Amino acid sequence: MPKKKLKIGLVDADLLCNGTRHPNLVLMKLAGFLNDNGIDFKLIIDQDEDITPYKLIYISRVFTFTQMPAFYENATPAQKRKFRRGGTGFYANELNVNIYRQKRDDDMTQLERDEFLCQYPNHRGGPRKNGIDLARQMPYYHLYDSFVDRKVAEGFKRDKYKDYQQYSIGFLTRGCIRHCPFCINKLEDKIFPYSDLEWFLDEERDEQGRLVRPYIYLWDDNFLAADPAIWRAKLQQLINTGRPFQFRQGLDERMLAQSPHGEEMAEMLSKTKYHGDFIFAFDNWKDRPLIERALKIWKHYNPQKGTKFYLFCGFKQTEQGYQKFYRDIWEIFQRIKVLMTYGCVGYLMRHEDYHNAPISNLYIQIARWCNQQAFYKKMSFWEYSYRNQTFWEQGAGFEVLKPVKPYEEFLRDYETGYYDREDSRGKVRKICKTLQTLLDTLEMFPEHREELLEMFNYKMSNLNDPKLWE
Ligand code: SF4
Repeated sequence: MPKKKLKIGLVDADLLCNGTRHPNLVLMKLAGFLNDNGIDFKLIIDQDEDITPYKLIYISRVFTFTQMPAFYENATPAQKRKFRRGGTGFYANELNVNIYRQKRDDDMTQLERDEFLCQYPNHRGGPRKNGIDLARQMPYYHLYDSFVDRKVAEGFKRDKYKDYQQYSIGFLTRGCIRHCPFCINKLEDKIFPYSDLEWFLDEERDEQGRLVRPYIYLWDDNFLAADPAIWRAKLQQLINTGRPFQFRQGLDERMLAQSPHGEEMAEMLSKTKYHGDFIFAFDNWKDRPLIERALKIWKHYNPQKGTKFYLFCGFKQTEQGYQKFYRDIWEIFQRIKVLMTYGCVGYLMRHEDYHNAPISNLYIQIARWCNQQAFYKKMSFWEYSYRNQTFWEQGAGFEVLKPVKPYEEFLRDYETGYYDREDSRGKVRKICKTLQTLLDTLEMFPEHREELLEMFNYKMSNLNDPKLWE
């Protein structure tokens, strides 16, 4: 009798829960290992998948808020034994440091210890004979093809899914030295070389001989804080490929000011074929002096390059924590002010704790403004909020005389009943949710009203000052 063929299921739980647009690198590497060994596998993209034919199912989850798929929740105890679970989504919010350390260590090594995988040879070189070597394993870049094809069949543009199709993906280094309390790398103490570029650089070409995946994106945690010999050599390798690349988690701008090689970093990066905006992080307001020193160096070498900063916020917010909430909002706008001054854009990264904030919707509204460059570069947060009001009024058929008005004028109109007055149709305007959120914030903090209004009116065209780096 022929041996029954093994079938392995791979599950990107974040994808099934609609929570991501990033392909899951571990799953792609796992698929690469299975492919190397001729083992049948499939990316499961249906909540109600019949799991009977699978010998094993590997589920990866990056975000703690991701719901597990229905076929997992509904599995019988016997079926549950088929599942192998892993990823930061299973432990990132663990508060006990010792438990966190244990869970992270287990998670980071479990695939390389996996009994099933260890029955098969490693085809990717290095000292390991059997089982997967995650650093050396070439990802299987077609893993998400069925998902993308389905989305295209549903009417979405293929281009929307380019992260799944056009990039070689990997970590050149791993680790960090910063110990940010909100980060999965909080217990790391060093940065070490991880994959060589050729271990994940895809060479597939189409019929015309063009690279199918012409771009590279890197998941490195803190590339620039690595030993200079490491980042310099790896950056040169990236440049030598001639392919546009991008560090998706952002680069640590502070290193430009802290490292004796900061100018060399800025100059070398200025000569690269960088893909999209350069992304850095400005997570803590207390780093302002460092960030400003670094920005002067950066802008000197890269005066015209699009530069974006992740702005972490929302951490440890609670329903009654009014002062902590105010401080967080204040720090967001102060960081934005610095960035606008240096002609850079911000991108709000909200910790999931923002849901607990006294006015959680304020984070959503600031992100809608800040994270869309067309708004951020052209209007203040106040103007953005009032334009939302105008948009609502026009949509509801009201006559709008001024699409945007200063706060004082709005207040005068508000107090004289402009927004309560019936129009010729007998209809009354209402205040849209964006504007109402801003007004609720002003009402919550009467003692900070002037300061809030000043911050809500920060505008790039007024603040940008090239003299700072020229
Ligand atoms: S610098 Fe970045 S990678 Fe390092 S601990 Fe902080 S958030 Fe994490």
